[in-house]
Amino acid sequence: MTRETHSEIRESVARLCAGFDGAYWRDLDSRMAYPAEFVAALTAGGFLAAMIPQAFGGSGLPLSAAVAILEEIHRAGCNAAAAHAQMYTMGTLLRHGSEAQKARWLPEIAAGRLRLQAFGVTEPGSGSDTLSLATTARRDGDLYRVSGQKIWTSRAEHSDLMILLARTTPREAVARKGEGLSVFLVDMRDALMAGMTIRPIRTMMNHATTEVWFDDVPVPAENRIGEEGQGFRYILSGMNAERILIAAECIGDAKWFIAKASAYARERQVFGRPIGANQGIQFPIAKAHAATCAAELMVHEAARAYEAGEPCAPQANMAKMLAADAAWEAANMCLQTHGGFGFAADFDIERKFRETRLYQVAPVSTNLILAHIAEHVLGLPRSY
Ligand SMILES: Cc1cc2nc3c(=O)[nH]c(=O)nc-3n(C[C@H](O)[C@H](O)[C@H](O)COP(=O)(O)OP(=O)(O)OC[C@H]3O[C@@H](n4cnc5c(N)ncnc54)[C@H](O)[C@@H]3O)c2cc1C
Repeated sequence: MTRETHSEIRESVARLCAGFDGAYWRDLDSRMAYPAEFVAALTAGGFLAAMIPQAFGGSGLPLSAAVAILEEIHRAGCNAAAAHAQMYTMGTLLRHGSEAQKARWLPEIAAGRLRLQAFGVTEPGSGSDTLSLATTARRDGDLYRVSGQKIWTSRAEHSDLMILLARTTPREAVARKGEGLSVFLVDMRDALMAGMTIRPIRTMMNHATTEVWFDDVPVPAENRIGEEGQGFRYILSGMNAERILIAAECIGDAKWFIAKASAYARERQVFGRPIGANQGIQFPIAKAHAATCAAELMVHEAARAYEAGEPCAPQANMAKMLAADAAWEAANMCLQTHGGFGFAADFDIERKFRETRLYQVAPVSTNLILAHIAEHVLGLPRSY
């Protein structure tokens, strides 16, 4: 086992999660409903404000504390996807917002009076190629007018604020290809009354994701974060934290699957002995455990480098890929270990199996991570 840090935080998260058992998540899953009570409990416990500096009402904890929180949520069989975005989208405001913006928004977010859960980057026509996004923000006096469409904007119906990436200068008019995009903090309560429409997308797991349309939506110019045209850089700077935190969730998932499979393999008797006595059952469990421990080391190394202020894109990307793979391997193993019962909703395995599959694709797909490693670590030609 790798050394786990922040043991007190882990214990209090585990205590909180014990109040949200499998029956709670199964009921939500069957209704595709949002875990409002769970998110409210996390907010009340201060967990979602863990990384907001104390000066703005948060706990001012390092990234490794957020890693511990999200890992424990998933290890307990719960799902942080309903609330995790606040932990990393907040960083865009914290690192690139003005003092006035931070003073206005961060204390409200830390206190749980405002939710910053929506992150509007992906569009139907751009996908992984973020720079080709087509949503525009046109300057109009003290306002910008936003038009376009976002897709996979998760939690939009359960958020007051959205971090939005939109084009402020046409692609052909910028000097460098990464320029021309800007970041806005959109107050969705206002936008919903001024041309913004949200439509839920039904997915294979309960994820509260949506499509969002902007029809000439006014956004005050004072809500632009940082310099006009530099938004892509700001979003990129937050991606390492996002990847490390999602990787932590995957490690939690993997541990849940391994614990569940080990317990079942010890108890389930077939041919007069526990199935776990067969190497065909115990080896896949042991292999999943080894892969999880290795991925966990990379998550800790990525978090260490992030906290030390070192460049950590390779570690963050590798952590995300290895942890997502470890979780997926563990999910598959757990289902197989349970035989037919793995498919029964009451065992929670099929639900977690569906949930953890997402991390092969979002927030960045495995192929794009491999392309990053090939190009930026190994010096191979850019493939796209
Ligand atoms: C449930 C869910 C929630 C999400 N939440 C959010 C959110 O809150 N906010 C947000 O902005 N986005 C969100 N996303 C979007 C997510 O980040 C994208 O789905 C992801 O980045 C992949 O983009 P895409 O789906 O358009 O796939 P595409 O870019 O169309 O890629 C399709 C496939 O082709 C592969 N591919 C593409 N280009 C290459 C290449 N050059 N080389 C090799 N393979 C390639 C990809 O790896 C992938 O397997 C969410 C997605 C899902 C499914």
